Amino acid sequence: MSINIDQIRSLFPVLHQEVHGKPLIYFDNAATTQKPTSVIEALAKYYEHDNSNIHRGAHTLADRATRYFEKSREAVKDFIRAKEEAEIIFTKGTTDGINLVAATFGRKFINKGDEILISTMEHHSNIVPWQMLCEEKEAVLKVIPITDEGEIIWEAFLNLLSEKTKLVSIVHASNALGTINPVKDIIAKAHEVGAKVLVDAAQSTSHLEIDVQDLDCDFLVFSAHKLYGPTGLGVLYGKREILEAMPPYQGGGEMIKEVSFAKTTFNEIPFKFEAGTPNIGDVIAFKKSLDFINELGKKRIKAHEDELLAYATSGLNEIKGFVPVGTAKEKVSVISFNINGMHPFDVGMMLDAKGIAVRTGHHCTQPLMQRFGIEGTVRASFAVYNNKSEIDQLVESVARIAKIKNK
Ligand code: PMP
Repeated sequence: MSINIDQIRSLFPVLHQEVHGKPLIYFDNAATTQKPTSVIEALAKYYEHDNSNIHRGAHTLADRATRYFEKSREAVKDFIRAKEEAEIIFTKGTTDGINLVAATFGRKFINKGDEILISTMEHHSNIVPWQMLCEEKEAVLKVIPITDEGEIIWEAFLNLLSEKTKLVSIVHASNALGTINPVKDIIAKAHEVGAKVLVDAAQSTSHLEIDVQDLDCDFLVFSAHKLYGPTGLGVLYGKREILEAMPPYQGGGEMIKEVSFAKTTFNEIPFKFEAGTPNIGDVIAFKKSLDFINELGKKRIKAHEDELLAYATSGLNEIKGFVPVGTAKEKVSVISFNINGMHPFDVGMMLDAKGIAVRTGHHCTQPLMQRFGIEGTVRASFAVYNNKSEIDQLVESVARIAKIKNK
């Protein structure tokens, strides 16, 4: 059964507005997706009816909030097919999840001379924490090169892997190019040399089926706000035995078993990594985002987005002066491009004047931009609520803009 886009659009109040006198066309979904009414209402409902601190209250509201909070954890576990809820840690987002792993796993298990492997297409949040760790530990950060199409060079990856590799930290789908990386094969190869693997799933969880047991990843991180959910919330999945071997991240309430001035013992996972009062309302509302995705089904979402991607790609490729950046065979619904003779920021401003919201710049992937010898790109990224008529308008507007310098 195909998707009823009009019905889906009716669930997203923000889409129904004008920008500069034109109906909003929101193509900045890789930065953050819009939120359905169910998520917005769940947030209000929590604050209107259930607001309470969790896990230690002896009263009805605290019990209720705790139950809803833990229900969300269960929903996340099912969403990524983890074995158990204890392997699901709530964080502030993808960035926070990666920093947690760097600060705990990294500090305990990465030593002088060890190597950490990332790729050329990583987001800054999957580069900088490892650089900081490598500097502290005198470890070495190595980078897998990519082709002109924006795909990992497999042979180069294999050559970089060695007994020294302790961690491979790799993006599942690139936010700047859309490339889907063969993470399952990468994980299998990394495991052969005894390395652990972290998957940055910030851009893949809304588009692709995720099964952490099938992937066999050691860690997987993502952000709720790119999944039709609230901002300031994310998830770190980790295998139980690894999480248990890791020291805590932050110290404080909730993460302890017993505290005395002489010694503190730490709580079980996942609580060991969730110091302080968590983002209760957003965690509870996040379940509604997952319900929204589950009801549609990732297969149908992907099929719709693939259709949009193919339609937009063929339309834009016809335009004189249109230069795509990233033409991998396997992509999520992201199109990065430049217009000959124009700065991406100017293109973005002209599209905004038409009510079309895109991202411009380096997309927090400066080393990737350097690889392509460019300053930045214009990026249009599609979500389940976008439709072909919006893409027609994008293509028409880009064609008109390109004509200015490409007669
Ligand atoms: N990795 C990738 C691939 C991303 O696209 C993003 C967000 N642009 C991040 C990491 C960081 O996510 P957040 O800002 O939500 O922590």
